[in-house]
Amino acid sequence: MASSSPEGGTVTDRHRSKHQEVRAEFDFGPWIGGEHQPGGTEQAVRDPVIDEAIVEIPHSSTAAVDEAVEGAWDAFENRWEEASARDRSARLFEWADVLSDHVEELTLLECLDCGKPITQARGEVEGAIDTIEFYASVCRAQRGSEVPAGDDLHLYTTQEPYGVVGQIVPWNYPLWAAAWKLGPALAAGNACVLKPASDTPLSTIRAAQLSEGIFPDGVLNIVPGSGSEVGQAIAEHDDVRKVSFTGSTDVGSGVMRAAAERVAPVTLELGGKSPFIVFPDADLEKVVQAVADGIFYSTGEICDAFSRALVHESIAEEFTERFVEAAESYVLGDPLSEETTMGPLTSQSQFETVTEYIETGKSEAELLSGGGTPDDPELSDGWYVEPTVFGGVTNEMTIGSEEIFGPVQTIMTFEDYDEAIELANETQYGLASGIGTERTTLVHQTADDLDAGLVYVNEYGPILPDAPYGGFKQSGFGKDLGLEALEHYQRQKSVYVNLDDPEL
Ligand code: NAD
Repeated sequence: MASSSPEGGTVTDRHRSKHQEVRAEFDFGPWIGGEHQPGGTEQAVRDPVIDEAIVEIPHSSTAAVDEAVEGAWDAFENRWEEASARDRSARLFEWADVLSDHVEELTLLECLDCGKPITQARGEVEGAIDTIEFYASVCRAQRGSEVPAGDDLHLYTTQEPYGVVGQIVPWNYPLWAAAWKLGPALAAGNACVLKPASDTPLSTIRAAQLSEGIFPDGVLNIVPGSGSEVGQAIAEHDDVRKVSFTGSTDVGSGVMRAAAERVAPVTLELGGKSPFIVFPDADLEKVVQAVADGIFYSTGEICDAFSRALVHESIAEEFTERFVEAAESYVLGDPLSEETTMGPLTSQSQFETVTEYIETGKSEAELLSGGGTPDDPELSDGWYVEPTVFGGVTNEMTIGSEEIFGPVQTIMTFEDYDEAIELANETQYGLASGIGTERTTLVHQTADDLDAGLVYVNEYGPILPDAPYGGFKQSGFGKDLGLEALEHYQRQKSVYVNLDDPEL
C-alpha cells in the first residue's frame, strides 16, 4: 500500500519546500563552547525520501574535537563541577521545557534526514524529552553510603563525575539516542562532547542550540562529522575520560580498543539479531502485531529488532499467514504524512546493504512477501524497500544470523521448548528477545533462559528511561537508561576517616 504526500502536491515538491524552510530558518554546524562554530568541509545532509540534499553543514575536524574537549574541561572545572544536583536538575528541566516547546520542529528535522514516519519521530522526540526529565528528577535523589566497618573508622562512599565524556551515536533514532547519553551524563555532572551520525545530525544540533543560556557554555558540545575522523578522535582522545558508544559491533570493538590504550571505561550498545519465541498457546491477535512492529518499526532500522521469529511448528502455518497479512498492511509513503507507517531506509548505503541481504535471502530461503521496492512512482527516488518476509529460515543462513538492519523478517520453526531456547540463544548477539505466550510460568522460565539484556512479553517496546537498556555478549555492555546509566557516568570513591579516641 502506498500513500501520497499530505497537503497535496507531489512528495518531491513538498520535501523541497521543507528543505527551503530548514535552510532559511536554521544554521547547522558544530556546537562548541555554547555557540555555533564554523567548521571544516561542508557535507550534504540528504533526504532519503527524494535523495536530495536538505542542507550542507560544516563538519568538525580533529582540531575541533580538541577544541571541544579543552573547552569542556574548562567549563567543567570552572563552572560545572561545583553545580549542585539541585542546580543540574533545574537546568535539565529547563532544557526539557524548551525542547517541549519545539517538538514539532525537532520532529520535522528527524523526519527529513532520517526518513522516519512523523508519528514515530514525534514519539521519539517526546521520548528524548522524557529521558532528560527522568535524569533531572533522579539526580537529586542520589546518595552515598556509610559503611559500618568499625568504631574507630568513619567509612563512606561518594560519587563523582568523570569530567569530560565522549559520546558517539548512530543514525536510526538520532535525538532519542543522544538524550540517552546526554541526560545521565549531564545529570551526573559531566561535560559532554557528542558526535551524531553524519547522515542524521540535524535534530541533535538543533536541540543543543536550544540549550543556549541554560548550561554553562562548553558543558554540552556537538561535533558533527565522519566516524573515521571525528568519532575516532573522540575515542582516542587522551582527555576524554569515558566513552559511550552506540552503533555496530565492529566499530564498537574498535572504540573499545582505542579507549583501552589509556584505560578509559566504555559503555557499548551494539547490534542484535533478536529472537521472538511464539509458543503454541500464544494469542496470535496480539503476538503477530508485536513481532511485526518489532521488525517493521522505523523500517527495521532498530537495534532491538525482532529479526528472527521462532514459531512452534503446530501454529507455524497460521502465524505465517497472519504475519504476511500484517506485513502487507504497512503504509509506505511520505514520512511527513500522519498515515505513513513505513518510510525509506535512511541512506543509499543502507538501501544497498538491505537489498543485497534480500537477494541473498531469495537464494537461501522461501520469499513469502515483499522482496522488492514499492511500485508507487512518487516513491521511486527514495530508498524504500517493501516489508519482506522469508520462511524456512535457519540460524545457519546468512539472513538468519547476520544483522540486516532493515524490514526483513526471517521465520523459523521449533519442535519443543529446549529447541526454542537453543535456537534463540545461538547467536553472537544478546540485545533483545521476545516471548509470546499466555502462560505466566512459561514467561518466567523463558525469560530466565534467554541470553539477552531485554525481554518483551507479548509486545514490542516500550523503552522507558526508568529501566536499564543494553545487551549481553557482542551486543555490548554497560547500560543506557535507568539509574544504572547515571552510575556509569560517575566514579565511586571510598573515604576512610580514622576516628582514634580523642585525647582530652
Ligand atoms: P556505526 O557503527 O557505523 O556508526 C555508529 C556511530 O559511530 C556513527 O556516529 C559513526 O559515525 C561512528 N563511527 C563510525 N566509525 C567510527 C570509528 N572508527 N570510530 C568512532 N566512531 C565511529 O553504526 P550505524 O550504522 O550508524 O548504526 C547501526 C548499528 O548500530 C547497528 O548495528 C545497530 O544494531 C546498532 N545500534 C545499537 C543500539 C543499541 O542500543 N544497542 C541502538 C542503535 C543502533
